[in-house]
Amino acid sequence: MSEGIVTASYVGATILFILALGGLSHQETARRGNLYGIIGMIVALIATISGITGNLGILVVCLVVGGSIGLVLAKRVQMTEMPELVAILHSLVGLAAVLVGFANFMDPGRLSHYHGVELTIHDVETYLGILIGAVTFSGSVIAFGKLSGKISGNPVLLPARHWLNLILLLVSIWLCGMFVDESAAGGGTMPLLIMTAIALTFGVHMVMAIGGADMPVVVSMLNSYSGWAASATGFMLNNDLLIVTGALVGSSGAILSYIMCRAMNRKFLNVIAGGFGTTTGGGGPSVEEQGEVVALQAPEVAALLLESKEIMIIPGYGMAVAQAQHIVNEITKALRSKKINVRFGIHPVAGRMPGHMNVLLAEAKVPYDIVYEMDEINDDFPDIDVSIVIGANDIVNPSAQTDPDSPIAGMPVMECWLGGTTIVLKRGMATGYAGVQNPLFFKENTRMLFGDARSSLDEVFKNL
Ligand code: NDP
Repeated sequence: MSEGIVTASYVGATILFILALGGLSHQETARRGNLYGIIGMIVALIATISGITGNLGILVVCLVVGGSIGLVLAKRVQMTEMPELVAILHSLVGLAAVLVGFANFMDPGRLSHYHGVELTIHDVETYLGILIGAVTFSGSVIAFGKLSGKISGNPVLLPARHWLNLILLLVSIWLCGMFVDESAAGGGTMPLLIMTAIALTFGVHMVMAIGGADMPVVVSMLNSYSGWAASATGFMLNNDLLIVTGALVGSSGAILSYIMCRAMNRKFLNVIAGGFGTTTGGGGPSVEEQGEVVALQAPEVAALLLESKEIMIIPGYGMAVAQAQHIVNEITKALRSKKINVRFGIHPVAGRMPGHMNVLLAEAKVPYDIVYEMDEINDDFPDIDVSIVIGANDIVNPSAQTDPDSPIAGMPVMECWLGGTTIVLKRGMATGYAGVQNPLFFKENTRMLFGDARSSLDEVFKNL
């Protein structure tokens, strides 16, 4: 393929990636967005492969092995495991940046290709690529551990952690100068290795210090880092498409982090510095101190629903675990056919990844026009007769507003307790991801429907 065609393909792929991002910003256009992304990636792959003059055999073997692993993982993964999969995939982007960086550094032709300022720029690119890649790699592995429950969600806070971070940063900058100097003379391995170890430690330290409830920001932040790592790799390899694609992922991830911070009423720097959620697990009074809960059975819940005019459904992580979205849709259809107004209220951090609930509801074919963001419906609760909380906990926890010591203090929550009756579906009295007890369950107008959300809703549906 001529260079002109390759460049034109890269421009085409870039446009398709931008269209993909545009499409993914709305549920109605998300499928189209995905399609643009797939076509863009195929175009990019073909154009890149056609420009390779070396051993194509190795490339094909790697593509087949990597592609097969990806295919099997994507087919096997449960919807509830999606956030962990995303986190571990981010770690691979970071690892790739580190490996490409070292391969670049060890390339015997490096010193004959680049001289003077060019060599300095190339070395700085390599250094930054490895640094961002290593932080992304180790941070994402820890995020994977936290999201999958293999590592505790509690923040691990070292004494003087801010000073430690600052020292690590200053040492990395100093090592960069040393690396650039030594590299021109054919050395530089030691500073590069020490910096890699520091960056790996920093990634672990940064994510370990973040409390469970702030994980959404971490997930989107690592998404952003993985983009910048890819972009840095693009600079190292002189590949314009990789630079642009990485920048698209990096900046959209940064915007997502901003949205998540706003949704949780947090300052980005505070989250990154860690320390929220210090009281995790111990926060709030114990179950005994909070009072009694009132449990209902499915027929009573069905009767309550049939008496209502306005119903709000608030799904959370438990709906994903129970895979209850399809029966939720059946119940919604049944109630709407009886002229009852049913709406869905989606908290921005419900579930375990951005847009988690929207994906599930779309899969079950719940109409988009009755699905609302929290900001759009939070003022409507006083007019709601019954709110059904399906496997949600932290996002409906009033202590976010009343307990300044709570790990979720200040996070906006769905104020369902301001409505007529709240029915909470969950299996027992376990806490949510942030590890705090929920006073909502003990309120006078709250009723619990205990059991797996899907079985409970199956029963409710039968009784409707
Ligand atoms: P939570 O994790 O707070 O609560 C989920 C509840 O679902 C649990 O209390 C559990 O109680 C219940 N549950 C679990 N399985 C079932 C089941 N099969 N049937 C019925 N109930 C079930 O979820 P929320 O959605 O309310 O809040 C999300 C939390 O996750 C927030 O703290 C958020 O910060 C965090 N987070 C969000 C991310 C995102 O991007 N959205 C990413 C990472 C973390 P029980 O065991 O008693 O049934």
